[in-house]
Amino acid sequence: MSMKPKIWLSSPHMGGREQDYVAEAFATNWIAPLGPHVNEFERRLAEYNGVGHAAALSSGTAALHLGLILLDVGPGDAVIVQSMTFSASANPVAYLGATPVFVDSEPGTWNMDPEQLERAIVESRARGLNVKAIIPVHLYGMPAQMDRIGTLAEQYGLPLLEDAAEALGSTFDGQKCGSFGRLGVLSFNGNKIITTSGGGALIGNEAALIEKSRFLSTQARDAAPHYQHSHIGYNYRMSNVLAGIGLGQMEVLDDRIAARRAHYARYVALFRSFEALGYVFEYQEEDTRSFSNRWLSCVAFDPARNGGKSREGLRLALETENIEARPLWKPMHLQPIFTSAPMYANGVSERLFDQGLCLPSGSNLTESDWERIEAALRAYFD
Ligand SMILES: *Cc1c(COP(=O)(O)O)cnc(C)c1O
Repeated sequence: MSMKPKIWLSSPHMGGREQDYVAEAFATNWIAPLGPHVNEFERRLAEYNGVGHAAALSSGTAALHLGLILLDVGPGDAVIVQSMTFSASANPVAYLGATPVFVDSEPGTWNMDPEQLERAIVESRARGLNVKAIIPVHLYGMPAQMDRIGTLAEQYGLPLLEDAAEALGSTFDGQKCGSFGRLGVLSFNGNKIITTSGGGALIGNEAALIEKSRFLSTQARDAAPHYQHSHIGYNYRMSNVLAGIGLGQMEVLDDRIAARRAHYARYVALFRSFEALGYVFEYQEEDTRSFSNRWLSCVAFDPARNGGKSREGLRLALETENIEARPLWKPMHLQPIFTSAPMYANGVSERLFDQGLCLPSGSNLTESDWERIEAALRAYFD
């Protein structure tokens, strides 16, 4: 039996003009981590996100690392991080010798629970930790409750470093995710909603901070004819060739969001038809204030309420059909690397990790992919 072609969770989807921009970089010999495409990509990112400034970098992880440095995080400090996320939200805290303090999710958005956040701030301070920043995440594109989180940040005098790596184009109260924090982080990794193969950006309204991130990302060279350094530098700038890919991708970003949102709507309609059979599912539902780019469509369900049907059962059923699906991010407080970090828990992220599945969500899924996905889901639940 020949294997059906693989249906991926989220694969790169070029718009068509990327190679023109890349060819232009070659034709003008701007094959370097600087150049006109980098400048133009930054301009478009700032404009799209409604912020004053953007620095194009080699990855979202690099943006988080520089963001923490700019917020003066150092050895022995503490940074509050959403536990349910990809490890790249938390690793840069460890790069700096600081301690992550993890905060659980709330059921609606699956993002940082404001009540646990407040507990984490108050109790960390009472324990003598020097809390320097808060990293909320917009998981799978769903905006966190930025009003409540922003109010707490202000009340306790803490800056937000907003991890919007999965949420380019998502909004809360009409404002773009990534633009709420003192600094925001974007990613253009190969699996994200748009990609430069690998890349990221740090965005914000403070010119001095973003300019300093560019300085640090290009080896922190002081203004001198020789190589002179008064800061530790990094090699984190985006290549002008890759920024060309980014320029092409920006032209189709809103189409990509529309396609992913249509996939989500199609999944929910299908799962609602299973609910009519008695199943019970949980989704990341928007409310009147939030708009998700639906980077990944996810569903969670409890075997005890669904006749033993489980996330893992469904994942394996899809795998048999060569359809990729993945459990939600394993929370950071359950990761071997972070077992000793403090955690403000309410049980939500552990439950979601046990019960949640990310479904194929690429903007390049075809109708025949969809037929296979729907058939596999029906076969499992009908
Ligand atoms: C992808 C991702 C990152 C890291 O971005 P890279 O560009 O891959 O370094 C950070 N945080 C979250 C939540 C992500 O999904």
